[in-house]
Amino acid sequence: MTELDRKQERTPVPKEWTYAPAPESRDVVNLRDRYGLFVGGEWLEPTETYTTISPADEEPLAEVGQATPEEVEAAVAAARNAYENGWSEVSPAERAKYLYRIARVLQERSREFAVLESLNGGKPIKESRDVDVPLAAAHFFYYAGWADKLEYAFPNRRPRPIGVAGQIIPWNFPLLMLAWKIAPALAAGNTVVLKPAETTPLSALHFADVLRQAELPPGVVNIVTGDGSTGAAIVKSDVDKIAFTGSTDVGKAIQRELAGTSKRLTLELGGKAANIIFDDAALDQAVEGIINGIYFNQGHVCCAGSRLLVQESIYEPVVEKLKRRLTTLRVGDPLDKNTDVGAINSKEQLERIKELVASGEEEGADIYQPPCRLPEKGYWFAPTVFTNVAQSYRIAQEEIFGPVLSVLTFRTPEEAVEKANNTPYGLSAGVWTEKGSRILWMAQQLRAGVVWANTYNRFDPTSPFGGYKESGFGREGGRHGLEPYLDFHRAEALNG
Ligand code: NDP
Repeated sequence: MTELDRKQERTPVPKEWTYAPAPESRDVVNLRDRYGLFVGGEWLEPTETYTTISPADEEPLAEVGQATPEEVEAAVAAARNAYENGWSEVSPAERAKYLYRIARVLQERSREFAVLESLNGGKPIKESRDVDVPLAAAHFFYYAGWADKLEYAFPNRRPRPIGVAGQIIPWNFPLLMLAWKIAPALAAGNTVVLKPAETTPLSALHFADVLRQAELPPGVVNIVTGDGSTGAAIVKSDVDKIAFTGSTDVGKAIQRELAGTSKRLTLELGGKAANIIFDDAALDQAVEGIINGIYFNQGHVCCAGSRLLVQESIYEPVVEKLKRRLTTLRVGDPLDKNTDVGAINSKEQLERIKELVASGEEEGADIYQPPCRLPEKGYWFAPTVFTNVAQSYRIAQEEIFGPVLSVLTFRTPEEAVEKANNTPYGLSAGVWTEKGSRILWMAQQLRAGVVWANTYNRFDPTSPFGGYKESGFGREGGRHGLEPYLDFHRAEALNG
């Protein structure tokens, strides 16, 4: 043993790391008291409004519009007009320029958007700053690159835009989901009517200002705020396509509504992903991957690794390391740069999490929550681990969409696959092992749109994302993400 080793052995391990608060400034965002609907490049005064709040302390932030079906119609008409009288004639290289500009403005205003996203959504600033906003800009950069290369992306298929896209997005990644939807739609030459979620409208409304800065022609992107009824009005309106991300129940209702119409549809719905740890995995890294898989963004992630499948021989060390790591997570003010776990997005979501956690306890699972003091105001839930979970428990079957992990075990790779696939969903999965051949074998067996190997929750604009079964259909991201926004005519048919 060297002198250094001996010294380190004697150094007492601190029981708790305390950090001085490091809050990001709220002043970088200029919130208005009241926002209208962004239609045809103008702010339309809404007939009805509601108050959007900060979930961390329930403080009112602004009044925003509750768009009626007539106002949705006006937005769709503006999008149609922009499509037919200008945008569809804009050359692909020009379209790309607008997308590059949007990406650059987003980058320039990244601090403002990061604060806004954390303020309105409750997510930790280090996540909005390092993940949401840079990835949103990256999507605009990426699709800008495709705008004038569609003929190469789809050789011999003569890609053409489809017209007006209605886009409905959820509250877990408001700006990023906006980018996932708007960037490929514009790159393909369409115009858009987008509705952010009721609880998180502010970043989309500020994005309208980015569009003005980028001098995007009026009506190419329209933003209407409101609750589910506004989303339903978009689905019923005269759009050519619906792109939806959200719950499986609403996704099914939309599919029923559109059946028999000519409107195109892509659905990105829920998940109940398995994060699978084999006994040869690097355990400390795997534990970080488990933590990132389920506590990132308070578990409000459709592809969250909410079911942990651990090989039986390493169950005890993994659970012990996991519990220890949980005690170091800092829960609190989303605007504090030290915060790991922020606020739950809404009262309704908190109720839903509590109800499912209570069902887990009633059904017989063992609950563990690290000691942590939750703020008194706002919506909060401590990071939670359930052990002793049976496959049939609701916490192992249903999407909780909160910081709650269910731990199950397996003995063989075949059993891991069987358990991982035993869900109505099929969005994502994680595999932790040192064996490359096992990774490839598992990836082939798992019914999941994305399989991460020795990592989790990694996103990249070049990589397609989407699900199987009740997780929806269609892909977003990558070249695949352009396809739902294009019509194709085979070259030979046109020639012949
Ligand atoms: P929803 O599916 O209700 O919300 C997603 C979006 O759809 C929101 O913009 C919502 O508006 C809108 N919407 C709601 N009803 C309709 C409708 N009938 N027609 C068209 N659009 C509609 O999700 P919730 O917010 O209710 O969350 C419930 C559960 O869904 C969560 O607990 C979670 O399990 C899952 N979920 C999954 C997500 C994913 O990424 N896969 C994202 C969000 C939730 P509004 O916000 O105004 O209701």
